[in-house]
Amino acid sequence: MNILKNYINGVWVESVSSETIEVTNPATQEVLAKVPFGEATKTDVAAATKAASDAYNQWRNVPVMKRVQVLYKLKSLVETNIDELAEIITIESGKTRAESIGEIQRAIENIEVACGTPMLMAGDFIEDIASGIDEMMIRQPVGVAACITPFNFPSMIVFWFLPYAIATGNAFIVKPSEKVPLTMMKIFEFIDQLDLPKGLLSLVHGGKDSVDAILEHPEIKAISFVGSTPVARYIYSKGTANGKRVQAQGGAKNPVLILPDADVEMSAKIIADSVYGCAGQRCLAASTIITVGDEKGEIKEAIYESVTSRTTGFGLDQGVHMGPVITAESKTRIERLIAQGVSEGANLLLDGRNPSISGYDNGNFLAPTILENVALDKELIKTEIFGPVMSLISMKTIEDAIKFVNSGKYGNMACLFTSSGASARKFRNEANAGNIGINIGVAAPMAQFPFSGWKDSFFGDLHGQGKHAIEFFTQTKVVIERWPKKWSRKF
Ligand code: NAD
Repeated sequence: MNILKNYINGVWVESVSSETIEVTNPATQEVLAKVPFGEATKTDVAAATKAASDAYNQWRNVPVMKRVQVLYKLKSLVETNIDELAEIITIESGKTRAESIGEIQRAIENIEVACGTPMLMAGDFIEDIASGIDEMMIRQPVGVAACITPFNFPSMIVFWFLPYAIATGNAFIVKPSEKVPLTMMKIFEFIDQLDLPKGLLSLVHGGKDSVDAILEHPEIKAISFVGSTPVARYIYSKGTANGKRVQAQGGAKNPVLILPDADVEMSAKIIADSVYGCAGQRCLAASTIITVGDEKGEIKEAIYESVTSRTTGFGLDQGVHMGPVITAESKTRIERLIAQGVSEGANLLLDGRNPSISGYDNGNFLAPTILENVALDKELIKTEIFGPVMSLISMKTIEDAIKFVNSGKYGNMACLFTSSGASARKFRNEANAGNIGINIGVAAPMAQFPFSGWKDSFFGDLHGQGKHAIEFFTQTKVVIERWPKKWSRKF
C-alpha cells in the first residue's frame, strides 16, 4: 500500500515516522493510501521549517511583481487539471463531482485575488508630515507561516491562505487533514513545477503531533487553522501563548429564517441545497430552519417536496445530489443524534437512516433527514451535527427568531428569506453572525471578502481571504525620515 510522502525542501521524501493511518473512500471503504502519523512526524515539521526559513530569506527579496508570476502558472495548472483534481476530491471526501468542481473554482478565485497583491500590500506615505520629515508605513512578510486544514474542503481551504502568504513574501507549510491528504498530494505536484526557491512551500502529513510541532516551533510565526471549535480554541490559545499570530476558524450551527412573504418555491430549493449539499458537511450548511408565521404550513410542504427529490449515492455516479459522510464514526454519531432527538419528542418527518444505495453497501450513507418540533434546549438545536439533518422549527415573529439566532454559541452564518427590504435590513443589522445571507442559502464570501465567522466560530482578528489575508501575512513597519534642506547638494 502506498505510504504518502511529504514534500520538503523541494523534493518528495518519506516521513521519519513508521506509524501510519489509512485513507479510505467513504462511499466504499476502499483503502486509498496510508498517511504518516504519530510522534515522529514532529521531526518532519522541523525539517520543513528549516527549509522554509532558508527559502524565506531568498524569497522576501524577490519583487512582489515577480512573486505573483508563480500564481498565474499555478492557476493555469489547477484549471488544466480540474477534472482529475475533482475526481480525487470526490473519492477521498465523498462529495459529488459538481461539488468538487465548485470548491476548486473557489480555490482558483483566491489565486486570482492574490495576484493583485502588488496593489493590495501597498503601504502609505506622507511627505512633510512635519517640515522636512516624511513618514511611511510599509508591509513586510512575517516569515514562515503554516496552515492546518479540515477534511471537508480538501482543496479550497488551503487556498484561503497559501496564495496570499507567498505573494506577500512568506514561506508556507501545509498540514492537510489526515482524512483527505490526496488532493494536496496532487496540488503539490503542480507546485513542484513552479519556479520557487526550494523549501518555500512544503507539505507535511500527520495529525495532532505534527500540529503540536507547528504550534511549538519558534521559527513559525503565523498559523491559519480551520476545523472544529475545540481544536480551533486549542490552536488559538497555544499558538498565541507561543507568540504566534493565529487565525482559527471553528465549527458552526447555522440558522435560516423564512418569512411568509418569501418566494416559497425558490427558498425551499435553496434551503434544501444548503442543508444537504456536501451531505451537510459544510461550515456554512443551514442546520436549523425557522419558519416564521407559516400558519398554513406552505413553507414546510415546499421544503419537504424539495428535499425528497434528492438522490443519495457515490459522488462520481450520474444524477447523484449527495454523497456519504466522511467516516463510519461520523455516520454513527449522526444516527445517535437523530435517535436522541426522537426520544426527546421531535417528530421525524423524514428518516434518512439506513438508506439502500445499490452497489455501495459499505458506504457511510445517510439520506436527507428532517426533524420538526425540536425543543430549543435540546442537543439537536445546540450541537453542530455536520450531516444531512434539518431541524425544522416555527416561530411567531421575526423578533423571536432573531433572539433565537443570537442565543446560539456559534456565529458563522445566519440567513433570511424574504421579499421585504425592511425585514432584510433589520436582520442584517441585528443578527450576530459573521456571514449573512439574504435569500442566499450558503453565504460563502467570495475571495475578495474575509471569511468572517463570529463567536465560537472564529478565534483571532484577521480572517482568511482577500485583504484580511494580506494583512495577516504581513507586519507593518512605520518609517519616519528627516532630510534637512541644508544636506541637498548641487551636482
Ligand atoms: P478537526 O478539528 O477534527 O480537524 C482539523 C485539523 O486539525 C486536521 O488537520 C486535524 O489533523 C487537526 N486536529 C484534529 N484534532 C486535533 C487536536 N486534538 N490537536 C491538534 N490538531 C488536531 O475538523 P474536521 O473534522 O476535519 O473538520 C470539520 C470541522 O471543521 C467542522 O466543525 C466544521 O464546521 C469546521 N469547518 C469550519 C470552517 C470555517 O470556515 N469556520 C470551514 C470548514 C470546516
